[in-house]
Amino acid sequence: MKPMAQIAMVMNLDKCIGCHTCSVTCKQTWTNRPGVEYVWFNNVETRPGQGYPRRYEDQERWRGGWELTRGGRLKPRAGGRLRKLLTIFANPLMPSIQDYYEPWTYDYENLTNAPLSDDVPVAPPRSLITGEPVKIGWSANWDDDLGGDPSPDPVLAKLSEQVKVAFEQAYMFYLPRICEHCLNPSCVASCPSGALYKRAEDGIVLVDQDRCRGWRMCVTGCPYKKVYFNHKTGKAEKCTFCYPRVEVGLPTVCSETCVGRLRYIGVLLYDADRVTEAASVTDERDLYEAQLDLFIDPHSPAAAAAGLPSDWLDAARRSPVYDLIKRYRLALPLHPEYRTLPMVWYVPPLSPVVDALSATGHDGEDADNLFAAIDALRIPIGYLAELFTAGDPAPVTAALRRLAEMRSYMRAVNLGERPPEDPELEAMYRLL
Ligand code: SF4
Ligand code: SF4
Repeated sequence: MKPMAQIAMVMNLDKCIGCHTCSVTCKQTWTNRPGVEYVWFNNVETRPGQGYPRRYEDQERWRGGWELTRGGRLKPRAGGRLRKLLTIFANPLMPSIQDYYEPWTYDYENLTNAPLSDDVPVAPPRSLITGEPVKIGWSANWDDDLGGDPSPDPVLAKLSEQVKVAFEQAYMFYLPRICEHCLNPSCVASCPSGALYKRAEDGIVLVDQDRCRGWRMCVTGCPYKKVYFNHKTGKAEKCTFCYPRVEVGLPTVCSETCVGRLRYIGVLLYDADRVTEAASVTDERDLYEAQLDLFIDPHSPAAAAAGLPSDWLDAARRSPVYDLIKRYRLALPLHPEYRTLPMVWYVPPLSPVVDALSATGHDGEDADNLFAAIDALRIPIGYLAELFTAGDPAPVTAALRRLAEMRSYMRAVNLGERPPEDPELEAMYRLL
């Protein structure tokens, strides 16, 4: 066994309100410069939705002449010779600016200083990069705005009514995303210059700006599309997990400024000797369990005997992430089927369950009623399973049940009722 320490984050999706405070404070800190106007190290996407960049989860788009082996190495694909050559010499398999979005601003001068007239002043948005009017194709969270308005046209009104009914049954939630600081990072594996590296002491994945030659293979190679290209410097850039702050004991900017207080940062201990084995399991649905198996209980004798620096061991013992991820199995990894072993995990959203149950007259915060209606959740379990467990519904259902039990417990506490005697629920309640 080779125990190592890894900085990790857990986000509780029930608490995210999509306010983008995290995105904006991250941008002001890290990407408020020419060349990275379009870049959001932290983004918050609407789910279901296309994400940022658009359709990044459609992995076939980025593969080209190469494929990622189960061990996390890039190897040439069978066939596709032209795509392979293009990948080597031009690397066209990256998102376009339209997939990210073209940053724009209004011509405020025109809007505020236009002379008095019968018409409302018109100020087409202009690209922040070129200054030219932009044809807005896409931007963050436009998936939010797909509702319909009643129309005086009878045909359109009927359509609108159908849309309204459809939307009454709709569901959505927010998914904040940063770089996953993966245990098996494909960005590192795909860099021809060796510029991307994973820090031994805390697992943060960084780009050495002096070594980067602008190949952009990391942009193509990251399945989460969390490496970006700076068009001014010609170098790759990515989330740094705010390492200058973490090194002096401060949380990341996104965590410190999060309005929902939903980001939990901590140190996980894992067995580095078994990373390749965990990334190589045959059945995608086993990847969640395989990754869980890597994590070492920081209070166990194995952790104490591992020879880790005492401050790291202390940090791991005080950290909430092991408990949320492994002890209580409340948090799940994003797209484990990408096999990079991501280290930002998510507590799945439970709130829509309440909506689903209120229609039946049941109390959604009563765990017994939730268990009876677990197949009728407003957010389909299958959708969450596609996001978090490579399609396996069992871990998602189990996490939601534990959340419902905990919510029931919280209600009893808050109403001054005698809560059930349950040390685990008490611990989860204190954590979340
Ligand atoms: Fe690299 Fe992408 Fe994993 Fe971040 S999410 S460590 S950029 S592979
Ligand atoms: Fe969600 Fe927190 Fe970001 Fe707001 S600041 S969008 S609540 S993660």
